Amino acid sequence: MPENSVLQKINTKKFQHDLVNWYNTEKRDLPWRRERDPYKIWVSEIMLQQTRVDTVIPYFNRFIDQFPTIESLANADEEAVLKAWEGLGYYSRVRNLQSAVKEVSEQYGGAVPADRNEFLSLKGVGPYTGGAVLSIAYGLPEPAVDGNVMRVLSRILTIWDDIAKPSTRKVFEEAVRHLMYEEDPSSFNQALMELGAMICTPTSPACLLCPVQNHCQAFEEGVQRELPVKTRKKSTKKIHMGALVLRAPDGTVLIEKRPESGLLAKLWQFPNMELPAGTNPRGALMSFTEEKYGITVRIAPEKVMEITHVFSHLTWEIDVYTGIVEEKKQKDQAIFVPEDNVETYAFPVSHQKIWKHVKGMDS
Ligand code: SF4
Repeated sequence: MPENSVLQKINTKKFQHDLVNWYNTEKRDLPWRRERDPYKIWVSEIMLQQTRVDTVIPYFNRFIDQFPTIESLANADEEAVLKAWEGLGYYSRVRNLQSAVKEVSEQYGGAVPADRNEFLSLKGVGPYTGGAVLSIAYGLPEPAVDGNVMRVLSRILTIWDDIAKPSTRKVFEEAVRHLMYEEDPSSFNQALMELGAMICTPTSPACLLCPVQNHCQAFEEGVQRELPVKTRKKSTKKIHMGALVLRAPDGTVLIEKRPESGLLAKLWQFPNMELPAGTNPRGALMSFTEEKYGITVRIAPEKVMEITHVFSHLTWEIDVYTGIVEEKKQKDQAIFVPEDNVETYAFPVSHQKIWKHVKGMDS
């Protein structure tokens, strides 16, 4: 049993009962909650990482319509998969998901493995996703500990370990194993997640409405707002960039594919470059397009928009210009596409915004 005095004195049966009963009566009706298909639950869990439920719902429905089975996703064209994910961000999630379902299709006859070690060996499946899918789809008593669950349990059990440290997850996994409602691990794990989403929220926990208030040590001590302990991340790096929407006289637009690996790998984008401090953006962009694509361009004198895009580790501040290409030349991963086809390619959110803005200027 983990060394936590609160954990040892908690009435586990009563806690399980209060939590799961509340969940069964109050839970939100979400599309993936109507499913027991491990593949669909897996998709939902991958989408829900770093993304809000309201945002995920339409993406989930569309994705499952388009790729309803393991086989359909395993055999899908990668470009179509990226397009279906466009706007959700963190694209490595979907690339890993597709690699993993290919492995499930080839190694496990298309059935998501119910064995913890096998499932966790798949690409992109970490302890949280593993625990969530195995408990929800297969009813296995596996902990599913993410930041949300750590917040809730840090309060209930007054755990003061720093949740920003990767090693702290183990403390919470042990606590969940101790508290686990073995009769229904699916509802138990989802109840903890639901409590974190609806009641025990980051800045203003609704303790007066909380179904487990009687079990909560932080509430008893009045320290719920001091938990969880989380050290601040270092501030993110800022990169100043210039991007260009370039049209040829026949109305086509220049886009290029990003590299095979790294940030936003294989998505499409408008030509862009980092602008070192003190450079003249138009001059730099003109030389850049000439060197990179072998084309001469005329760039409009004023930028048409500024856009800021924040990633977890860096921020792009992009000045957007438009321009005309006198002569079309295609090179490497850069292609000219008819204007009406631009939206059929998968772009990162920042470049979707660029296109929306520039297209809006024409109408
Ligand atoms: Fe969270 Fe308050 Fe409930 Fe404790 S009583 S679990 S702090 S909402």
